[in-house]
Amino acid sequence: MLFNDFQPLAAIATTPVAAQKLQSMCQTAGATLWVPESLNHLKLKQIKFYSGSLKDHIASLWFQNRALVFCLATGAVVRLIAPLLEDKSRDPAIVVVEQGGRFVISLCSSHQRGANQLAQLVAHQLGAVPILTGAAADLGIPGIDVLGIPFGWLRGEGNWTGVSAAAARGESIEVIQEAGSILWQSHLKEGHPFEFGASGDSKARIWISSQVKSPQASLEIEKGKGEGEGVKVFKNKNSIQNPLLIPEVQWHPRVLWVGIGCERGTSKELLVTAIEQTCQRYQLATAAIAAIATIDLKADEVGLVELCAEHNWPLRTFPAEVLGGVSVPNPSRIVKKEVGTPSVAEAAALLAASSQTLLVSKQIFRSQSLNLDIAKLEGDNNIHNYQGAVTVAIAQSELEYTGRNGQLFLVGTGPGQLDQMTPAAQTAVTKADAVIGYSLYIDLITALRRPGQIIEALPITKERQRAQRAIELAEWGLSVAVISSGDCGIYGMAGLVFEELRNQGWDGKKPEIQLFPGISALQAAASRVGAPLMHDFCAISLSDLLTPWKVIEKRLEAAAQADFVTALYNPQSRKRTQQIAIAQDIFLKYRHPHTPVAIVRSAYREDEQVTLTTLDKFLDLPIDMLSTVLIGNQSTDIYSNWMITPRGYLG
Ligand code: SAH
Repeated sequence: MLFNDFQPLAAIATTPVAAQKLQSMCQTAGATLWVPESLNHLKLKQIKFYSGSLKDHIASLWFQNRALVFCLATGAVVRLIAPLLEDKSRDPAIVVVEQGGRFVISLCSSHQRGANQLAQLVAHQLGAVPILTGAAADLGIPGIDVLGIPFGWLRGEGNWTGVSAAAARGESIEVIQEAGSILWQSHLKEGHPFEFGASGDSKARIWISSQVKSPQASLEIEKGKGEGEGVKVFKNKNSIQNPLLIPEVQWHPRVLWVGIGCERGTSKELLVTAIEQTCQRYQLATAAIAAIATIDLKADEVGLVELCAEHNWPLRTFPAEVLGGVSVPNPSRIVKKEVGTPSVAEAAALLAASSQTLLVSKQIFRSQSLNLDIAKLEGDNNIHNYQGAVTVAIAQSELEYTGRNGQLFLVGTGPGQLDQMTPAAQTAVTKADAVIGYSLYIDLITALRRPGQIIEALPITKERQRAQRAIELAEWGLSVAVISSGDCGIYGMAGLVFEELRNQGWDGKKPEIQLFPGISALQAAASRVGAPLMHDFCAISLSDLLTPWKVIEKRLEAAAQADFVTALYNPQSRKRTQQIAIAQDIFLKYRHPHTPVAIVRSAYREDEQVTLTTLDKFLDLPIDMLSTVLIGNQSTDIYSNWMITPRGYLG
């Protein structure tokens, strides 16, 4: 799931060492590992052999794969791919693993095709250092040409190289955002080059809008701002020579909901023309279209269905009663008589966009009235393609449609130190568009953050809100990592997220879920004191916030009686001090007062404290919410400062 964006993915190794280096990563990533036929003696699983020259083989992989991972000298890789490179927005992402396995280089197509991200993912799998050489990575800002990807924005016209170069030089970049979520703005690193709103002295500009912005539009802004302030306004028609024209790019969030009404049998061509002409007339970008909305009677309208499939636009339909309840500027009695609602296009657009006002009110198109070169079409024998009649209306939504299937990664970060976190969990955090968790744990994993990532830290008591927020973002289409310390499924966020999803009637698929286990506090604590968990053990949380104390007491009694080694989580807080004393009393009923007890505080963190003591005395020591208490069973012993529980009872 983590490597989904890079499928199909191929890896290439030419030596046995390189093949071994890549093999397990390939299995995790679902990548095909290619090696030369001469290595067919290698007993590696899921490996494919190529014959002939590597150059020819790469040429055949080129168009069939989204990404290629080489374990080969960079020079060789450069020579191999050079003749195939065409366009950074279409070429496969190229990543090179250094043959010692210590470094992973993002070589080509680092932004739009995601080689930077892939290099980071592969590096985590191999425990290697990712090497990203692009300027954006260095500045700690998201690449200009990938900025809107998490939100499903589409790139419009623009001088992408010019604006990216300005960002690389650290020049100020004006951002004029008229549509879509501004969440990304509040998660930028300090010292980022963006200026929000017209600034006047910026060296480049990003438009985020549902409209198509011509260079003229930016001139007008300069003019409006500049006049009266002594700023010279150039009205030179030749935009390239105009010194006021700075490089610009356009991102289009998908916020336009196009309401369509049409006669039965209306052709796809007429629908396309109607939508395109409406957009042109109002300077709207077709890239900003979220979906088509109409009456449920048209759910099977052939032209509409084809149109939506072709453009990847969902078709939202509403029953006549619902449409009839919407107040619209141009209701029609004739339409009401025919389909039972006075408006289809306008009402459907408003409903789908959850908006009160239309951006474009009803436009009517018939083949005769179209602005088409009919003579030319007749010559082409195409006129019959333009049958029917269409009404179009457009409304703009506040939140964009992402068109993406959201994902929830439930991640256990382990006890603290980064090297105690699994590579898979690290990969998930780096990959996620958003990371949500308690601030302390988020701070512990700062090194994994990616520029442009949305980081939402919430206080420790707000677990349920954290789960709800994560689900909200994932349902919108983002991939969201929900962070728990230790293991996410042990007194962690995983349960809360599942409960919340179930409350909301989750279908089990959207959003998708994947769990990433971590080393839980009891394992971390045990590893600091010896082998206390060698025999049957249990964990009991002393927190009665979500569990009645009576239940906890009953479990303590049972565990003590059954001679389980017991790990106490959440042992004592400033307000809650009685529970640990009761626990001690219960255990003393069944175990010797000298039974070894370990108190491990902040295991694997900077302020770690480890103490070995006994059951009768452990309350004399400081115990808090960052501590785990391990109580031995009747055979647990201390030897040379190690707490050891024998493997069996026989000896
Ligand atoms: N999901 C976590 C547990 C969360 S409950 C896990 O699997 O470890 C919080 C409790 O875990 C704390 O009160 C403490 O008892 C324990 N804990 C978490 N991290 C710890 C650490 N680094 N050292 C010792 N105890 C820890």
